[in-house]
Amino acid sequence: MKDLLTELMLIPGLSGYEERVAGAVRGHLDRMGLTHRTDRLGNVTCTIAGNPAAPSVLIFTHMDQLGFIVRKIEADGLIRLERLGGVPERALAAQAVVLCTPRGDVPGVIANKSHHATGPDEKYRVLPYAELCVDAGFSSRDMALAAGVNVGTPVVYMPRVFDLAGGRMAGTSIDDRAGCAVLLALAQRLAAHAGGPTVHLVWSVQEEFNLRGVLPAATATAPDIALQIDLLLACDTPDMATRGDVTLGGGPGISLYSFHGRGTLNGVIPHPALVHLMEQTALAKGLPLQRSAHTGALTDLSYIQFMGQEGVACLDVGFPLRYTHSALEVVDLADLSALTDLLEAAVLRITPGFRLDRL
Ligand SMILES: [Zn+2]
Repeated sequence: MKDLLTELMLIPGLSGYEERVAGAVRGHLDRMGLTHRTDRLGNVTCTIAGNPAAPSVLIFTHMDQLGFIVRKIEADGLIRLERLGGVPERALAAQAVVLCTPRGDVPGVIANKSHHATGPDEKYRVLPYAELCVDAGFSSRDMALAAGVNVGTPVVYMPRVFDLAGGRMAGTSIDDRAGCAVLLALAQRLAAHAGGPTVHLVWSVQEEFNLRGVLPAATATAPDIALQIDLLLACDTPDMATRGDVTLGGGPGISLYSFHGRGTLNGVIPHPALVHLMEQTALAKGLPLQRSAHTGALTDLSYIQFMGQEGVACLDVGFPLRYTHSALEVVDLADLSALTDLLEAAVLRITPGFRLDRL
């Protein structure tokens, strides 16, 4: 898990530019001997055929990460950014970034005004992203263009990963490369079982952009059940103490409620049969199961639940994550292993008698 996660975290993959991550995912599936297809948006789907009498299951996770798009190159070579996704503006200044050009990755620094010249009124002010600029060493616009940087170039936090004490890892885009790693580990395990339900595994695109990138893959697979793997907000730091009980290292969890109001007006109230399934599976396997309920975030699952004539039974499952969307998120590897165990065992409990009706 550690090697897989490290590999995936070190690959830049802004929303809409997931090809390199997808290439790594497909490489792993090829080595497992599993077939896959990639749709026009870039979603990678791998179907493991099972008992057709059992409800079919879609399990998906997003490959993309938030970041920026080059908006303007100034005459002096400094670069202005447009944001893409939920970028935390107060954690941007002085960050290292990578501009992904057709000629290769170009490193840069998000400029932070020299401290010696920062007045008392500026010290505690957060600069909106539109006021920031990236210094990639260019001294003119032409020099930037010659290096392959142009309006529209994707930009992400400079990929990095390192170990913390106690089996924890810090780095970029753990959201949601950790989900990608768990889904690859799950693919290997499910492929070794016979008699389970048909499972469609999807590594999806553009979640951080519009929360709907997975929809073509969900339409193509038309599942009865959809499980989505992403972060759960870890609440065991002082600044998060009133937000919930989810702790880093406390094991995998499920979301009982998600909602996002601003413009999106969507969320997921999970199907009770799937909540019951996870609770019973965790109990039987002696695995911890944390519970999360919060507003302010949601995933593509919000849209999948409305698909088809019957709707899709949905549940968000996840791993605790600290400092979400910042350049250095923190995860506990034991949570990812336990999440893989939980999902494997839960899927195998979905048999022909598994009921999804609301009678
Ligand atoms: Zn995510």
